[in-house]
Amino acid sequence: MSEALYEKSIKCPICNNSFSSKRLRASACRIEKRDEDFCTVYKGYNPMHYEVLVCPHCGYAASENSFDNLSSNEKNAVKEILSGKVINRSFCEERTVNDALDSFKLALFIAEARSAKDSIIAGLALKLSWIYREMKDEKENDFLQYALKYYKQAYDKENLPLGNLDEISVQYLLGELSRRLSNLNDAVFWFNKAVSNPERIKNPRIEKMAREQWMVVKEQSRKV
Ligand SMILES: [Zn+2]
Repeated sequence: MSEALYEKSIKCPICNNSFSSKRLRASACRIEKRDEDFCTVYKGYNPMHYEVLVCPHCGYAASENSFDNLSSNEKNAVKEILSGKVINRSFCEERTVNDALDSFKLALFIAEARSAKDSIIAGLALKLSWIYREMKDEKENDFLQYALKYYKQAYDKENLPLGNLDEISVQYLLGELSRRLSNLNDAVFWFNKAVSNPERIKNPRIEKMAREQWMVVKEQSRKV
């Protein structure tokens, strides 16, 4: 077994069985760059590939940080959707990029079935788009679109912050996703909101990124 990986024991909140799954040591992760939509690109091992836990007994899948966090209604919805399904595949060993992709698809399917918050669905869709980006597959844009739709709904309906995204970061991200999808007017609208948000005092990095990406949009508009 690679020294980058270790075994972690996990108990499934849906079927109550225990299983062990490979995890990636933080010391094995080396950052190459960060894309403007917050995607971190790694040299070698990518910790995102191991972020979704998948129970090999019942097929329940969710991000590590929301794995145990279900109401009884959500548990019942997940049990119903998984009932009678057979899982012929294990995600518990070292993962290929295809394993990572399918683990996120499974987590997204289950998040929808359990009526998870829009921000959770948006976060999974965004990461799925990043895995397609890593694979150089144009389906990246389908999931950017999906993430944009759900982040907008979350911004309108949920209390901020959305996970680790404060208000200015959400506004910036809505701008950057719109820009990547060539919705240039929307991108300008959201970058404007970010650069005039009072939170910019606390978050100068995001303010700087919003100004830079605003210039990129202007350049894109000129070409159009
Ligand atoms: Zn299970």
